[in-house]
Amino acid sequence: MSATVPPRGLPKEPSAAHTINEFEHGYEEEQRLRGFRSACGFVTATWGLRCARCGQYDLTEFILSGKGVVSAYTVQNVPSDEFVNDAPYAYVLVDLDEGGRISGWMPSVRAVGDLSIGDRVHWVPSYKPGVQFEKDAPAPGDGGR
Ligand SMILES: [Zn+2]
Repeated sequence: MSATVPPRGLPKEPSAAHTINEFEHGYEEEQRLRGFRSACGFVTATWGLRCARCGQYDLTEFILSGKGVVSAYTVQNVPSDEFVNDAPYAYVLVDLDEGGRISGWMPSVRAVGDLSIGDRVHWVPSYKPGVQFEKDAPAPGDGGR
């Protein structure tokens, strides 16, 4: 007779609805950015089973707007193979409006002067790998979509 031993430290029913692979490729295949929110208020754009702040297994998945502010960036002149035809471009860290931080890239930024910390950006669905961002239009409401 064999007894089934439950795995230690894991909830019986993890709240994460998707695997890490499905989560990370959701923006490519579903054209949506997914995030997680904990009851403590913590928000993350990184897949996980438990809250990185309080440790609770209470993460609820939701769809992120993809809008945020540049918190850091660097211009890549020597790209990885996937981006070899896109260099130079910016590798960016974006603080999302809902909370949480996500990394991505901006093909429209080709030099340090093309972008500033604090610039508003938004996610643009793309067939290319990675989370791609664009700068918001400089004059909101001025004929923009
Ligand atoms: Zn929490």
